[in-house]
Amino acid sequence: MSDRAVIGILGGSGLYEMEDLEIIEEKSVDTPYGQPSDKYVAGMIHGTKVIFLSRHGLGHKYSATGVNYRANIFGFKKLGAEVIVSVNAVGSLREEYHPKDIFIPTQYIDLTKKRDNSFFPAIPAVHVEVADPFCKAISQILYETGKSLGAPIYMGGTYICIEGPSFSTRAESNLYRSWGADVIGMTAATEAKLSREAEICYSSISLVTDYDVWKDTAEEVTAEMILSNIASGVGTAKNIIRAAVPKIADIADCSCRHALQYALATSPAVIPQEVKEQLLPIYRKYLPEGDG
Ligand SMILES: [Zn+2]
Repeated sequence: MSDRAVIGILGGSGLYEMEDLEIIEEKSVDTPYGQPSDKYVAGMIHGTKVIFLSRHGLGHKYSATGVNYRANIFGFKKLGAEVIVSVNAVGSLREEYHPKDIFIPTQYIDLTKKRDNSFFPAIPAVHVEVADPFCKAISQILYETGKSLGAPIYMGGTYICIEGPSFSTRAESNLYRSWGADVIGMTAATEAKLSREAEICYSSISLVTDYDVWKDTAEEVTAEMILSNIASGVGTAKNIIRAAVPKIADIADCSCRHALQYALATSPAVIPQEVKEQLLPIYRKYLPEGDG
């Protein structure tokens, strides 16, 4: 393998494909957790290998709760991705983050309830550190690239992740603001957590579509307006990704890619063989030689 990182791109609402990807192959990937949302599309952008996946699948099939996050992230791992750049839509909880702005979160608050958000739910016991859950190095590149392109982009702050599918009440929206949250969405916390467990660098390009319901706006927020804001943000996000991938691929190593080094509490001797085999793509390198 070359020392240039393979980059995964996880597209969300409005970003179902990368048009200028020189496609090499499309791959269906089986995982122990079931089927990912769609086929992975591997290709090149500016000589850099990237692997694209549509989070919600063809035709936006899966809701945020219905997405099989473990399968999606595990599939990226099996295909050799060392980085995932996620694109997702968020509501703004702050006056200063306007619709069509781009926000790169550095923290999350996870309020999801109904999804599998760990590769290690029972055996073995693995406690991964997520004090800084988004990859600092990749986020910085995305931010600087966005700035250099003149995009309305901000970095630093908290993404609150709710279960959905409904949006928030005004009381909830105001509560999240009082907690210091900056944007609200339904996907990034789950993906960031799983990516850290899979030792993949994860960063989020969050597209602000509207002010969440806390703000009394004179203008009525319509679905049409939100779709138009998403379309504008997606165009900007693609430009950022195109310009950033060669720089991201140059990051040959990162602490995210060693997140499990001290995280395994269970002795490998008592981990059932079938569990070891299931998790091999994730922690093969931590097993004693010849084990698993
Ligand atoms: Zn990283």
